[in-house]
Amino acid sequence: MGEAMDRPEREGIEREGMDFDVIVVGAGPAGLSTAIRLRQLAAERSADLSVVVVEKGSEVGAHILSGAVVATNGLDRLLPDWRSDEDAPLKTPVTEDVFTQLTEKGGFRLPNRVFPSLMSNHGNFVASLANITRWLAAQAEALGVEIYPGFGAAELLFDDHGAVRGVATGDMGVDKSGAVTERFTRGMELRAKYTVLAEGARGSLSKVAIKRFGLDEGRQAQKYGIGLKELWQVQPDKHKPGRVEHSFGWPLDDSTAGGSFIYHMEDGLVSVGFVVHLDYQNPTLSPFDEFQRFKTHPMVRGLFEGAKRVSYGARAIASGGWQSVPRLSFPGGVLAGCSAGFVNVARIKGSHNAVLSGVLAAEHIYEALSAGRANDEVVAYEEAWRESDIGKDLWRVRNVKPLWSRLGTRAGVVAGGADMWSNQLFGRSPLGTMKHAKPDWASLKRLDEVTTIVYPKPDGILTFDRLSSVFVSNTNHEEDQPPHLVLKDPSIPVERNLPLYGEPARLYCPAAVFEIVYADEAAKTGPRFVINAQNCVHCKTCDIKDPSQNIDWVTPEGGGGPNYPNM
Ligand SMILES: Cc1cc2nc3c(=O)[nH]c(=O)nc-3n(C[C@H](O)[C@H](O)[C@H](O)COP(=O)(O)OP(=O)(O)OC[C@H]3O[C@@H](n4cnc5c(N)ncnc54)[C@H](O)[C@@H]3O)c2cc1C
Ligand code: SF4
Repeated sequence: MGEAMDRPEREGIEREGMDFDVIVVGAGPAGLSTAIRLRQLAAERSADLSVVVVEKGSEVGAHILSGAVVATNGLDRLLPDWRSDEDAPLKTPVTEDVFTQLTEKGGFRLPNRVFPSLMSNHGNFVASLANITRWLAAQAEALGVEIYPGFGAAELLFDDHGAVRGVATGDMGVDKSGAVTERFTRGMELRAKYTVLAEGARGSLSKVAIKRFGLDEGRQAQKYGIGLKELWQVQPDKHKPGRVEHSFGWPLDDSTAGGSFIYHMEDGLVSVGFVVHLDYQNPTLSPFDEFQRFKTHPMVRGLFEGAKRVSYGARAIASGGWQSVPRLSFPGGVLAGCSAGFVNVARIKGSHNAVLSGVLAAEHIYEALSAGRANDEVVAYEEAWRESDIGKDLWRVRNVKPLWSRLGTRAGVVAGGADMWSNQLFGRSPLGTMKHAKPDWASLKRLDEVTTIVYPKPDGILTFDRLSSVFVSNTNHEEDQPPHLVLKDPSIPVERNLPLYGEPARLYCPAAVFEIVYADEAAKTGPRFVINAQNCVHCKTCDIKDPSQNIDWVTPEGGGGPNYPNM
């Protein structure tokens, strides 16, 4: 280790800076679409426009995890000729759409005709969203966008008037104690006329911007789910390319919203996943173990006989919809994609809206730049989205999540279906626009109010433990760095969360990052909260679900995190 330098000294070292017209944070579908559309507009007018995208993953796609069944209206808008591009990784049209209610030992299929057409997957594609972003990145670069993978945007920069004037990337080569090592490199200041936050669900800088500018004032609290996913190579006779299956019910009880997806991709691959809504109440619930249990259902397990698991990961998914979208614009920047929560929860789809919001943001930012404006608020983008295709998509399903929360899953699915029909047929709902219940972090009951859930042990063939799962997510962080899971008050896990809730972080974290370790294990005395930050798959669940709102997820050293292949 090199000579130590403490934090104040490090912060005294000036950062080098670079100036751009637009900085985009996050190379997901939203960020890349923003960048592509900006450069398209500049090319159409033979104008000069510098656009840079920073991405915390080691490469574009490394941190992208989705289902995914992709609705193509976003791509049709952004790149109308994408179907004739042989490299476009959308090769598997949906062929079959199956919806099942599971009970413990069986289940029944719901006829497709009970669902309004907005739920149909006809015309959609089963694909890897990570691979779509890799392909979009190539399109962006061909148009002259600069993309910097391996650089997390760690800080928002503000000008003297309080407007955002860009971002700073994180320092590299700082050890656990905050002292610099011989690897030390100061982060860069990337300054821009406009900054687009396209960090996906619960973005760390988006969270700062939402708080600082009060973007959620007058909006409902954002709701989330945790989505866990595995990729399996299945036996050829069980593989049905384009088959899409969803289920609800078992193993979750009726008061816990969520369900499964199974998507048959190309090349014998099947994407299987499970979403648990983060307003669950029982602190002994483990979304990871519910997912493992789901695979053992008699109607499901056969698919995985003779199959091999090839990858694993998890990611939060926004589910508040129409009511929860914050104000999109603030001085110097905007929110796009899932940073704004543009997911249609009934369809478990957000990638199409991520692309559409990137296009919409780019068009309004371009207009502002063309008028010679900079670092002000692009209000026209905020004013436009509710009338756009994104608004229409979210409006029709706005009561689905509140109905699930209020009525439980079984009755909620029926009532939500009726409400969607009403919106589709009459353009309105007799229920108006319903409110969400409490924020997700406030929904847990105390340990003494619930029955403890006991999960079966994994068999290592169909069901797994967390550590072997993290292994196949190829997660990697520099170990000697300051923790990127920052406790506002380090005493809370043991002194509050443990007695009241059994410290639920041990269970909701899908990557075994949090542990309670006892000085005397048998007597359960001397508890200590341990953070194995190197396992973190960047799902952001802890930032959302901690009942004391005590965990702040911040960007680790750039390039750290999962290395998903084709999730
Ligand atoms: C389990 C699951 C299943 C889903 N299934 C579907 C589906 O079938 N169909 C569908 O359409 N949608 C689905 N979705 C939703 C869909 O994945 C999202 O709507 C979509 O990914 C949102 O795109 P985005 O660009 O806004 O964010 P993301 O795709 O999350 O991309 C954000 C990018 O920004 C990067 N980033 C974040 N913060 C920083 C930072 N500070 N600095 C630098 N880089 C940063 C991230 O590493 C990431 O690469 C699913 C989601 C989940 C979790
Ligand atoms: S530490 Fe937080 S963000 Fe990381 S995997 Fe666990 S719950 Fe997800």
